[in-house]
Amino acid sequence: MSAVTEPVDGLSLRGITRRFGARQAVAGVDLDVRRGQVLCLLGPSGCGKSTTLRIAAGLERPDTGLVFAAGRLVEGNGHHVPPEQRGVGLMFQDYALFPHLSVRANVAFGLNRLPRAEQIARADRELARVGLARLAEAYPHTLSGGEQQRIALARMLAPEPAVILMDEPFSGLDASLRETLRGTTLARLREANVAVLIVTHDPDEAMRVGDRVALMGAGKIIQEGTPLELYRAPKVPQAVALFGGANVFHTKVTPEGVRSPFGLVPANGVATGSWAEILFRPGNVRLADRGIQAVVVGVRPFGGATEVEARIVPDFLPEGVESPATVRASAPPGALLIPGLEIRLEADPNDGFVFPCFDKVCWA
Ligand code: ADP
Ligand code: MG
Repeated sequence: MSAVTEPVDGLSLRGITRRFGARQAVAGVDLDVRRGQVLCLLGPSGCGKSTTLRIAAGLERPDTGLVFAAGRLVEGNGHHVPPEQRGVGLMFQDYALFPHLSVRANVAFGLNRLPRAEQIARADRELARVGLARLAEAYPHTLSGGEQQRIALARMLAPEPAVILMDEPFSGLDASLRETLRGTTLARLREANVAVLIVTHDPDEAMRVGDRVALMGAGKIIQEGTPLELYRAPKVPQAVALFGGANVFHTKVTPEGVRSPFGLVPANGVATGSWAEILFRPGNVRLADRGIQAVVVGVRPFGGATEVEARIVPDFLPEGVESPATVRASAPPGALLIPGLEIRLEADPNDGFVFPCFDKVCWA
């Protein structure tokens, strides 16, 4: 067996695997989340995020691998510490508050080893921290979604766990409320100095919330790092596309490099004659006075600029380069653009990301 690196003070997963029938849901996951840190586990539906989280929580057993919480082995090598004894707080999308219990009793629920008076004092203190002391006597069904979320947060933190596990905690909220609650939740979690693992399928959320982001695909972590590391040095095409998508071109590598509509891109180690895919982020493709010709198909505001969807005029596509049906580019906020208008697009070839591509379909 290979050496296992030391677990951290928060949550550590080592070599976690889990199969359901023929389906390898988790295929060898290693993760570390330190106290005071938020790690977002990001990936498409079905890639194994929830199973990983459930294994960390102890709700699911792995086939192989180790789980450490606060440096203590809680799963593996014959150990299985049940969820309530792991020092781990959980939150799911539906919050799972107990309908027959008052808000205060909900928050006190995990404190049954403390004397009654202390349970109440601590529950009230947690409620005050999320600004809901006035609702202590209320019942969950009388509360808004946002209030229920904050009560779930208070309940989760009341037993002072070292590790917090949240599965899509903001997905059930409408956009404006989500933004606010994300802010207050994160502030409270930082104050509590816990290790936080948040599962999400939303790249924007992961980039806003995570100190680190672990990108998951088909049961594996395919890249892990800070949002800035993923932005600057994406190791997989999926990471390029996390920040507002990507324009993906395909071509065979020539001895000079990789041809693209925006010029020759360095081959990044892909062998001459092999298929490569070249990705340009929409933000790096600009409306310009020169460059390739394209026809506007659609226009929409996007992140303080205007995003233009355009069809490249075929004559401007270098030989052997396959283009998506339309490309996305950025224009200044005030640009007057209408469908059918001819425009020119340019990009710095150094902003192109090249990856090997075996079947030309790849990931997109
Ligand atoms: P995610 O949370 O990323 O959407 P999941 O971890 O829920 O993914 O699921 C990963 C894969 O494992 C999926 O193919 C899913 O159908 C399968 N799976 C998860 N839980 C079970 C289960 N209890 N029984 C059978 N298959 C499951
Ligand atoms: Mg899930």
